[in-house]
Amino acid sequence: MAGYPSEYELDVVLRDGGVARFRPIRPDDSGRLKDFFEALGPESRYFRFFRIKETLSEEEVAFFTQVDYSDRMALVATLDDAVIGVGRYDRAEPAAVIAEVAFAVVDEHQGRGIGTQILQLLTKHARDGGVEHFRAYVLGENRQMMRVFRNSGYELTRTIDSGVFTVDFPTVESEGSLAAEAEREKRAIAASLLPLFFPRSVAVIGASNNPDSIGGKLFNNLLRESLTGPLYPVNPTSKVVHSVRAYQSILEVPDVVDLAYIVVPSRFVLDVARQCAEKGVRGLVVISAGFSEVGPQGAELEKELLDIVRSSGMRMVGPNCMGLLNTAPSIRLNGTFGPVFPPAGNVAMSSQSGALGIAILDYATRNNIGISQFVSVGNKADVSANDLILSWEDDPATDVITLYVESFGNPRKFSRIARRIGRSKPIIAVKSGRTAAGSRAASSHTGALASSETAVRALFTQAGVIRVDTIEELFDAASLLASQPIPRGTRVGVITNAGGPGILAADALEDHGLVLPELSLELQERIGSVLPPAASTRNPVDLIASGGPDEFAHATREVLNSGEVDSLIVIYVPTSPEGADRVAEALRTCQDSYEGDIALLSVFMDASGKAGTKLAGEPRSIPTYLFPEAAALALARAVRHGKWRQRDPGLEVQLDPDATDSIRRVIDSALDRIGDDGGWLEPDEVDACLRAAGLRTPETAVAVGRDQAIATAREIDGPVVLKVLAESALHKSDVGGVVLNVQGDEEVGTGYDQVTAVADDVDGVLVQEFIPKGHEVLIGMAQDSNFGPLVGFGLGGIYVELLKDVSLRIHPITDVDASEMVRETKAFRLLEGYRNQPQGDVAALEDALQRISGLISVMPELVEMDLNPVKVLEPGLGICVVDARMRVEPMGPDELPTMKDLPGVASPTSV
Ligand code: ADP
Ligand code: MG
Repeated sequence: MAGYPSEYELDVVLRDGGVARFRPIRPDDSGRLKDFFEALGPESRYFRFFRIKETLSEEEVAFFTQVDYSDRMALVATLDDAVIGVGRYDRAEPAAVIAEVAFAVVDEHQGRGIGTQILQLLTKHARDGGVEHFRAYVLGENRQMMRVFRNSGYELTRTIDSGVFTVDFPTVESEGSLAAEAEREKRAIAASLLPLFFPRSVAVIGASNNPDSIGGKLFNNLLRESLTGPLYPVNPTSKVVHSVRAYQSILEVPDVVDLAYIVVPSRFVLDVARQCAEKGVRGLVVISAGFSEVGPQGAELEKELLDIVRSSGMRMVGPNCMGLLNTAPSIRLNGTFGPVFPPAGNVAMSSQSGALGIAILDYATRNNIGISQFVSVGNKADVSANDLILSWEDDPATDVITLYVESFGNPRKFSRIARRIGRSKPIIAVKSGRTAAGSRAASSHTGALASSETAVRALFTQAGVIRVDTIEELFDAASLLASQPIPRGTRVGVITNAGGPGILAADALEDHGLVLPELSLELQERIGSVLPPAASTRNPVDLIASGGPDEFAHATREVLNSGEVDSLIVIYVPTSPEGADRVAEALRTCQDSYEGDIALLSVFMDASGKAGTKLAGEPRSIPTYLFPEAAALALARAVRHGKWRQRDPGLEVQLDPDATDSIRRVIDSALDRIGDDGGWLEPDEVDACLRAAGLRTPETAVAVGRDQAIATAREIDGPVVLKVLAESALHKSDVGGVVLNVQGDEEVGTGYDQVTAVADDVDGVLVQEFIPKGHEVLIGMAQDSNFGPLVGFGLGGIYVELLKDVSLRIHPITDVDASEMVRETKAFRLLEGYRNQPQGDVAALEDALQRISGLISVMPELVEMDLNPVKVLEPGLGICVVDARMRVEPMGPDELPTMKDLPGVASPTSV
């Protein structure tokens, strides 16, 4: 179909957690459209057509289903291949900037957010196509439709005439519309996962009498914790499973089933999933393996499984996972086949590795760390870590989110939501392996630099994600953040009964950039009043070996109430058999009567771990560690996180719609030419994108042959630069393929001979305006498997990789980011005018970085880019990009996209 915009085919999670498919209308929808019209109630029909309408004529059906996707656009929402909603817009005349919009949803699906989604998609399509205003006519009594318009967050104006509202609104995104959308996304995802975490009833398909089989273990676990709802074993050959009456198929279960665990061999999974869809099951947890993890055939099977899940509106965890559990007392869902059910608590966990998941639950249980929900996401065909994070954002039982991740399916989305959620709930991640950016994009400088370990760490910090190296460190940080306030600053107090551990703590704290301030004399006196003269009241406070529960309680209380530190570590080295217990009790009492916001941590150098049990519980647990170094590291992470929360995120630049349009046109035609494997953009395409984004490039033309090169050079004012165009000469000057500053026919001719002699596959030369002077810097971009696009800035030219003087940030780059990036490199010294060098236009450079980020926002297909060099001219003269390369790849299938993941939709500035 000509012009059919297939990027508008998407599955969307609705307000109530169901899933519907949205796509542009097609001519073959005529039958479905007639059925839809039949299904519309009389009232809806009246609202839509402003009169009682019984049937649609053939002409009407043809008119509605055949659109040009430009002046006339229509979208449908479908469920089980039936159309349940339709929306359209029509321009008053071709290419008009105003269009009339209308939509209708069948009665039984109203109120689910389908109208809102249709409107959202139509608005985006219209905006991209140059429609600036929407107008809708709404009957006064049609409250439902008015609500959809209001909830969209667009800036509406309404007028009423004879009972009909005229609603007008600009199609441009506003802060209101973006915020409304982020809120919708979060609610919808959370609602869709509710039947998985709080099912009214659960079935285990493949429940087995063999207690050693996975189906046996899982079923026994669910039984053992006395799941609050009914539990139904499904087994085709046994009438009874572990004393519970079993059913041959899920269709025979005489009750609604919200959640079904599937533990059958992979070849049966599709049939079983179809039966679940028929039964009206809302959530699946597919434990069975044999899918994409085993190769292409498995991947095909997984695709079919996902299709069943999506088209019936279910959600699915897995396949190839160990299950999911929820410790909430109202449900007690022990839905994994592992041996432990952890204590209830406020830490949520998503694990990409099943085996590790078991170890994690075991560790948490042994260390008294309470879990709210745990999900082993397996192959993440449907439910991803991103979905879980969104659902935990507003979950009252969860205060800290922990992740074991190997890869993110949608890194752009991860960094967008992590940055928002991290402001209220810390996200801690154990990330295995290094970032893939290096291996994928090694041909760009930025890619090579981004793979370094320090860069990865910095990037997690930028997103506000606390990155740890081991499971132990994960829980060290989680137990602190789950129980204590985030420290407001870097000042730490240490109280100990032995000098050695005090010094170890002080050293470790200082290594992490924390400080141990000298305590005031008044405070030292108050602490010292109950201590023997040999004790030290400086920081660390050393109570010496005679220090028991009373001395610890006294000193702790004094330091907590002094406000002279932001956090306090109390270290106890056992001096008697009951010592640890009694000191723990003393600390417990201090904590119970303390309401301030100084974080309290404890170290009990006692391997029995008994003190920890005393320190757990309401209103605040005190995290406990075996060694001072572990406490110092956990504390340093919390402090860094606190700093991140206090930082002003800044504002980002968004390109205007005209710029976006012309960039999209360039990319779309380039992708047609390049094909599915992706490839490099042509120089003129690169130039067009950069200019549209508002970046200066030199006057440039491609010339083929000596004569044309000379002719082209004549048309450019002043001296020129000649650069060879040849596939083999990626880095042109390395092979002698660049001559600078030539003028006049003779020089140009000689230059031409020179640069074309260096390769056998010469396609032509670039003839370019010569830009004298200027500092040479690099701006680059590479895709990262954790965070999506990264933007790098540093000193340009041939020494980039040698000097590693590059600062990296996750896209999008705000004004605050740009300013920091420029200032944290050595290149900045040069731009400031080092040793009589001319200064550079730093303001223009910061602006350029933000514009590049704006460009990346509208080019999700961009996988790597090197602008090297960008010439930074003297203040007031701006910058000029003299060499640029961009590589694009078509976007692959992804997890459930939302509007913001579509091309041309940027994330709100508040995240
Ligand atoms: P490559 O990176 O493939 O070797 P460039 O286009 O970056 O090729 O050119 C090499 C060097 O030539 C640049 O680093 C810059 O110093 C200089 N140069 C390139 N184009 C221009 C120009 N238009 N004006 C001034 N100097 C230029
Ligand atoms: Mg270059």
